[in-house]
Amino acid sequence: MTYVLPLWSHPALPVVGQTETFPIRRVHCVAKNYGDHIREMGGDPQKIKPKFFSKSAHAVVAGSDAVTISYPRATSDLHFEVELVVALGEDAKIFGYGVGIDFTKRDLQAVAKETGMPWDTSKNFSGAAAVSQITPIEQTGELMTGSIQLSVNGVLKQDGDLAQMIYNVKEVMDHLNGYDELLPGDIIFTGTPAGVGAVQKGDVMDCSIAGLPDFKVTLS
Ligand code: MN
Repeated sequence: MTYVLPLWSHPALPVVGQTETFPIRRVHCVAKNYGDHIREMGGDPQKIKPKFFSKSAHAVVAGSDAVTISYPRATSDLHFEVELVVALGEDAKIFGYGVGIDFTKRDLQAVAKETGMPWDTSKNFSGAAAVSQITPIEQTGELMTGSIQLSVNGVLKQDGDLAQMIYNVKEVMDHLNGYDELLPGDIIFTGTPAGVGAVQKGDVMDCSIAGLPDFKVTLS
């Protein structure tokens, strides 16, 4: 097959202990999955049905343990949201886990919420998803509990536990699969705990999830 344009490289994530990388097919995201974050956004955390949105695989900036993201256009209120990222392998079973930041143009998202318009411009842009290397589930076991934290310039901002998820990973996968078949290569952002906030050019975000290598994201 030849194309009328030179083909760009396929988005992929490094894998701990392997030279082969994990090819990204789709990026699914849970909008609200920790009660304390729902409350800080002015909502009421009820277990009704999870809400989903997606990002382009090309919005992902991937790195082993550190990446640099350029401050995006059209916002003056870029927020971090640290999240457990689940990577699906053969038969859409969990291949492994990574640490991610779901970057959000909060000012554009507020307008979208107010006007009932889609979230795409606030959630789906170049650099909107920072994702670490993936640690295979054989090395981590199933991640259900454990600390999830993000610091900005050394100051702790988000400090939660995976056990606080309203919908656990299996439930998130079941709901997503109910809408459209999950496929190998899909990754899932599973929601963020409380403490989200704005970052500026030059800020350094240190992310950690118990059982996974730390991940550093610098905003340039
Ligand atoms: Mn999020």
